[in-house]
Amino acid sequence: MQMYSEADVDISVLGEQRIAVLGYGSQGRAHALNLKDSGCNVVVGLRRSGSSWAKAEADGLAVEEPDAAVRGAAVVMFLTPDMVQKTLYETVVDKIEQGALLLFAHGFAIHYGQVEPRADLDVALIAPKGPGGLVRRQYEEGHGVPCLVAVHQDATGNALSKALAYSAGIGGARAGVIETTFAEETETDLFGEQAVLCGGATELIVAGFETLVEAGYQPEVAYYEVMHELKLIVDLLHEGGLAKMHKFISDTAAWGDMVSGPRVVGDASRAAMREVLTEIRDGTFARNWITENENGMPEFRAKMRADLEHPIEDVGRRLRGRMDWLSE
Ligand code: NAD
Ligand code: MG
Repeated sequence: MQMYSEADVDISVLGEQRIAVLGYGSQGRAHALNLKDSGCNVVVGLRRSGSSWAKAEADGLAVEEPDAAVRGAAVVMFLTPDMVQKTLYETVVDKIEQGALLLFAHGFAIHYGQVEPRADLDVALIAPKGPGGLVRRQYEEGHGVPCLVAVHQDATGNALSKALAYSAGIGGARAGVIETTFAEETETDLFGEQAVLCGGATELIVAGFETLVEAGYQPEVAYYEVMHELKLIVDLLHEGGLAKMHKFISDTAAWGDMVSGPRVVGDASRAAMREVLTEIRDGTFARNWITENENGMPEFRAKMRADLEHPIEDVGRRLRGRMDWLSE
C-alpha cells in the first residue's frame, strides 16, 4: 500500500493557479472553503439559477457560471451529483485549458465511461473518506479526513503531484492519502454503501424491528433495541474495532454475538454480497442507475416513499421527539 503524508506533498505546486470547484453541496462547500483557507486561488462554478449561488457568495467565495469558472483554471474539480457530470463536462469541455487537471471525488463518471476526457488533460481522483461536513470541521480543527488518490490519465507527467497538492489544500494530507485506482475506488465505494453501510445496515435494522413487533413486543422497545442503540456499537467499532466493542459489551452479549451473528449474516447473505459486487463490476448497476435517471427517477421515488412510510419511522419520530439532546 502506498500512503502519502503531509511531508510527501508539495502544496506550492498549485501556487497562485486558479482552481475551479464545480458544485457547492456537501463536498463542494468543504473543498472550496478549505482551499481558500489554505491560500489557494479558488472559484466556485455554479448555475446562476441554482440555490447554491447565494450560499457560496455569502461564504465569501468568488462564484461564476461553470463555463466561465473553468477558463484559465489549472484544476477543475467536479463536485456535482455523479449523474449530472456527463452533461456538465460537455458544457465546459471547450473552455478547459490545455493540460489542466480534471479532478473527481468519486470515480463513477470516469470508470463507467460517462465522461471521456480530452487526451491533453490530466485526470485524477481525490476522494475524502467522509461527508463534506466532516471534511470542513476536521480542517477547521487542524486535522483532516483521509483521502484516496488515483490517476486515470497523466498527460503532463504531473497529474499525481498536482492531485496530492489539492489533497493537502483540503486538509486530507494531514490524515494520509492512500493510492488506489478509479476501478478500486468506484467499485468498493458502491459495494460498501450497498451491501454494508446504507443498504445492509438499514435492512438489518428493519428486519430486526419487524421480527420483534411480529412476535408481539412493543414497537417502542423494539426501536430502542435495533435502531437507537446501534450508534453506541458503531462508535466503539469506529474508535477501536472489534476489540473495543468486546471490551465494553457484556460477556452475555459477546457470546450471543459469536453464536448468533454468523447465522443471521450467513451463506445466503454472503452469496448476495458477491452477486451485488458482480453487478457493480460488470456495469449492470451503473447502467440501471443511469437509465433510472434518464426516466426521471420513478422507481427511486417509489422505493424512497416505501422506506419512509415504514412504521419504524413513525415510532422513531415520536421517541426522538422526547430526546431533545438528539438534533435531527
Ligand atoms: P451534493 O448533491 O451535495 O451537491 C451538488 C452540488 O452541485 C450542488 O451545489 C448543486 O447546486 C450543484 N449542481 C447540480 N447540478 C449542477 C450543474 N448542472 N452545474 C453546476 N452545479 C450543479 O453533492 P455531493 O454529495 O457533494 O457529491 C459531489 C461528488 O462528491 C459526487 O461525485 C459524490 O459521489 C462525491 N462524494 C460525496 C461524498 C458525500 O459525503 N456526500 C463523499 C465522497 C465523495
Ligand atoms: Mg434500505
